[in-house]
Amino acid sequence: MARPRIRVIPLGGVGEVGKNMMTVEYRTDLVMIDSGTKFPEEEMRGIDLIIPDITYVIENIRRFRGILITHGHEDHIGSLPYILPQLKEIAPIPIYGSPLALAFARAKLDEARVSHLADFMPIQAGVVYHIGSHLDVEFVPVTHSIPGSMAISVSTASGRIIHTGDFKFDPTPPLGPRTDEDRLRQMGDEGTLALFSDTVRIERETATPSEATVSATLDRVIGGAKGRVILTSFASNILRLEQAMRIGAQHGRKIAVVGRSMEQSVTVAIDLGYIQPVAGTYLPIDQVAKLPKEQILILTTGSQGEASAALARMASGDHPSIRITEGDTVILSATPVPGNEETVAQTIDNLFRRGANVCYSAIEPSIHVSGHAGGAELRHMIDLVRPTFCVPIHGEYRHLYLYKQMAIKAGIPEANIVIPESGIPISFSRNDIRKEPEVAYGSVLVDALGNDRYRNVVLRRRDELANAQVIIATVVVDLERGVLIAGPELTGKGFDDEDSQKLIYLAEQELRGYLERQLRKGGMSYGYLVGRVKDVVARYIFQKTKLRPMILPVVTEL
Ligand SMILES: [Zn+2]
Ligand SMILES: [Zn+2]
Repeated sequence: MARPRIRVIPLGGVGEVGKNMMTVEYRTDLVMIDSGTKFPEEEMRGIDLIIPDITYVIENIRRFRGILITHGHEDHIGSLPYILPQLKEIAPIPIYGSPLALAFARAKLDEARVSHLADFMPIQAGVVYHIGSHLDVEFVPVTHSIPGSMAISVSTASGRIIHTGDFKFDPTPPLGPRTDEDRLRQMGDEGTLALFSDTVRIERETATPSEATVSATLDRVIGGAKGRVILTSFASNILRLEQAMRIGAQHGRKIAVVGRSMEQSVTVAIDLGYIQPVAGTYLPIDQVAKLPKEQILILTTGSQGEASAALARMASGDHPSIRITEGDTVILSATPVPGNEETVAQTIDNLFRRGANVCYSAIEPSIHVSGHAGGAELRHMIDLVRPTFCVPIHGEYRHLYLYKQMAIKAGIPEANIVIPESGIPISFSRNDIRKEPEVAYGSVLVDALGNDRYRNVVLRRRDELANAQVIIATVVVDLERGVLIAGPELTGKGFDDEDSQKLIYLAEQELRGYLERQLRKGGMSYGYLVGRVKDVVARYIFQKTKLRPMILPVVTEL
C-alpha cells in the first residue's frame, strides 16, 4: 500500500516578505511553523498590521498539535497574540521554540493578556520531540541576527522535511553557536525528502559577511565620536545591540535604551544572559542624560524611519527628552526594508539638518550586515542537506524564482523544485511532489485603536470589508507653515440615517479642533499626522457609539 503523503501549506511568507506561516500535516497530525505579521504598505493607512488567515487551521482544529517557532522576529511570532484567541477552544496551545524565541513570544502574549492560551515548550537543539502520533520534530541551531534561531526538521514515516528558518552560515558569530553544519550534513546522509529554504538574499551571489565585521566598524565610529552617540537598529537585532553595548562600555560610555520595543527586547536578552552589560554601564535614560556628552550612548528605535518611533521624533525635534544637537553622532545600523527607503532618507536629512554626524550604510557599508544567507550560502545548504525536493520560501516571487534557478545549478532536477503559492498545498511522497487544490487563505487586517496594539483590536477579513462601515477622513495641510488648507471632511459609508450623519458631523468638528491646535504647535511629521487623524476619529466614534468602523485617513501635504 502507498504510504500517506506529507502535506505542506504556506499560509503566508511566499511571494511576499513578512507574515511567515505554514502548516505541515501527516495523517492525523497538523502543526504550524511560525506565526508572523507584516507591516502594511504606505497606502493602507487605516491598518496597523497584517496577519495570515487561519481559517484552514480552524477547520482542522481536531488535528492541530501546536506551533513550532524558528526564531523571535516579528515576521515569525508577531501574529501569535491574534492567532491564539482564534484557537482557544483547544487551549492551552503548545508553542515549541528556543528559550529566547519563547521569551519574546511570551512578552507579546503577556502584553495582549492571552499568555494563558499558550503552553510554552522550550526546546533543546538535538532532542527529538514526538508531536502527535506521527511527527518527530528536531530543532537545529542556525546563525541569524537574533540568537536562538533554529532550522526545524519534521520527520514522518514517509520522510523528512527541513525548514531552514531565517539563516546564514556566519563563521564567527559574536553571540550564540554557529549553524550546526554537522547535524545538517547528517540529516542529508540519513535522507531528506524536502528542503524549505529562506531565499530573501538570493540576489547577492556571495556569502553574507560575518556579524563580526560590524564590530570593527562600531569600534572605530564609537571610539572616534567626540559627543553623544545615538545608535538605532531593529529592536529585535540582539546581536547588534549586544555589540553596541559592549563596545560603548569599552569606550567609557554609559548606555541607555529609548523606545519601548527595544527596552523590552534588551530586558529579555539580559534575563536570558545573551546580553551581559558591564556592571554599572546600563542605566535608565534620565541618569545617562545628565552625564557629559562623551560618556553617553543611547540605543533607540526608529531604524526604519517610523514616524512614531523615538529616532524620527528626535530628528524632528518632537521627542520629549532628547534633542539632536551639533556634535552628536547618529549611527543607523540597519538598512531600510523595501518600501521604507523614503522615510529613512527623510530621517537622515533631518538629522544632518540638526547638525548631527550621521553614519549609515550608503557611506559606511560595514555598519550593517544582513542576517540572511547570500546565494553561495543558500547553495551550501542544499549541498549539506541534499534534498530530493526543494521549495523556496521567505521571499518575493523574484527571490523564489532565482532560488529555483540556483537549485537547478546545484543539481536538483527542475521537476523537483516547486515555487509555492499561499493557500496551495504541496504534497510529497518518496518520489513525487505535486500541488493540490487551494484551501482557505488570505490576509487579515489588524485595526487597533491608539498606540496599544492589543487593546480594542478589530480583525478585518478582506471579504467582509465590502459590507463594513467605513469613514474616509480627507485633510489638506501645509505642515511647514502649520496650517489647515482644506477639510477635514468626513464621509461615511453605512452611516445613512440622520443620527449617524450628525455623529459624522460632530466627529469632523472634533478632528478640526485637534488639527488646529496641533498644527499651530508645529513639529508634526506627515506619518505621525496620518496616524493621529485615524485615531482621533476612531476614538470619538467609539466613545459615542461603541462602533469600530474602518477609518481611512487621506492626508495631502502641500
Ligand atoms: Zn528573522
Ligand atoms: Zn524572517
